[in-house]
Amino acid sequence: MQYFSTNRRSAHVSFREATLYGQPDDKGLYFPEKIPALSNEFWKDFQNKSKERIAYEVIKPYVGETIHDETLAQICAETVNFDFPLVPVTGNISTLELFHGATLAFKDVGARFMSRCLRYFSKEKTEKTIVIVATSGDTGGAVANGFYDVEGVEVVILYPKGKVSRVQELQLTTLGKNITALEVDGNFDDCQALAKTALADEELKSRVFLTSANSINVARWLPQQFYYFYALQQWKERSAPVICVPSGNFGNICAGILAHISGLRAHKFIAACNANDVVPRFLQNGKYAAQSSVATLSNAMDVGNPSNFVRVLEIFENDHLRLKDKLEAVSVSDEITEETMRRVYADHGYVLDPHGAVGFYALSEYLKANPEQKGFFLETAHPVKFDSVERIVGTYGATPESVENLFSRPKQSIEIKANYEDLRDILIKKI
Ligand SMILES: *Cc1c(COP(=O)(O)O)cnc(C)c1O
Repeated sequence: MQYFSTNRRSAHVSFREATLYGQPDDKGLYFPEKIPALSNEFWKDFQNKSKERIAYEVIKPYVGETIHDETLAQICAETVNFDFPLVPVTGNISTLELFHGATLAFKDVGARFMSRCLRYFSKEKTEKTIVIVATSGDTGGAVANGFYDVEGVEVVILYPKGKVSRVQELQLTTLGKNITALEVDGNFDDCQALAKTALADEELKSRVFLTSANSINVARWLPQQFYYFYALQQWKERSAPVICVPSGNFGNICAGILAHISGLRAHKFIAACNANDVVPRFLQNGKYAAQSSVATLSNAMDVGNPSNFVRVLEIFENDHLRLKDKLEAVSVSDEITEETMRRVYADHGYVLDPHGAVGFYALSEYLKANPEQKGFFLETAHPVKFDSVERIVGTYGATPESVENLFSRPKQSIEIKANYEDLRDILIKKI
């Protein structure tokens, strides 16, 4: 499989190069030349297939011969080593819980897969690899955990001081070993600007292999298809499901749509957005107008210019009619999000996190208008990761053991000002 750039000026590359480079020079995104169709063989014993096997068969055509089969099977097994239950919430709405992994969010899947691919590909390199990530919360923890103790790779995480939740901060700062957490005196934009400056530092790049692990990397994007298949294994209805995905950068939903094009049964996809409504507006009036992001309760979806949306357009070959036939997008306010969290807990005893609540509401509205359908939404993170849940619902629900353990571990972070010299000094010491 070769990958081309959505801007169509950079050369085609293999999965290996797409993973190592992250983004083509022309600033487009890598996209597979051909979307594979799953064979009858794949579907014949689908119900009885293991998670590992499904992951392997789904990803194999995308990886091609760039990773040995046994290694790829091993990487898949390590990526999906936790549960993905589809849990009923109401009569016609279920939730696919994606929070049973190491950092209690769906990003664990992409981060675990990518870290292991990167380790494999960087074995041939003589210089050290440094992964640098800016995070507003969930990404950092998943990436740190995915790369934890991975040989030959140093990870430097930049997070805004005082602006991530208490569980998120512990997940970032209690690992140690090859993970360095930098607490930046600034906001998320400052963190991102610092990471960008480092990634463009030619002198540094001549001495070390510097890469970011952001959500546009194909090795993070593509494995997110896996759990849509696990949901379908557990789907007992006759009709194809309506699948609702809380969306920010649109990587997750784009992976679901990709799986659908490969053969996964789905009636429709709904992108559930918060007040950051670029895509809902686009589907309404055909005009794509990037905005600066606004802060909401579901802060992992505070994205004003969703980077993966061009891939959604690419999947539908820019055919807006086909796109609108498969995809709806809804914007949900913080007020409704809070109200939904309270109501769903009161009526069904289910604790939603703010992102899942946006998904639940968007899906319930759709099903009100289409009562013959049934569907599920993705619960993208565990409620305990968001401090607002206790205030709104009064409880975080059952708290996983891993969270209890976090509180007994010492926080290790380095405070830096939002200036590049501080960051550079730290990076140099890692070489
Ligand atoms: C990252 C994240 C999202 C948004 O996912 P995208 O792939 O960027 O659309 C939604 N919910 C949670 C909890 C997240 O961490």
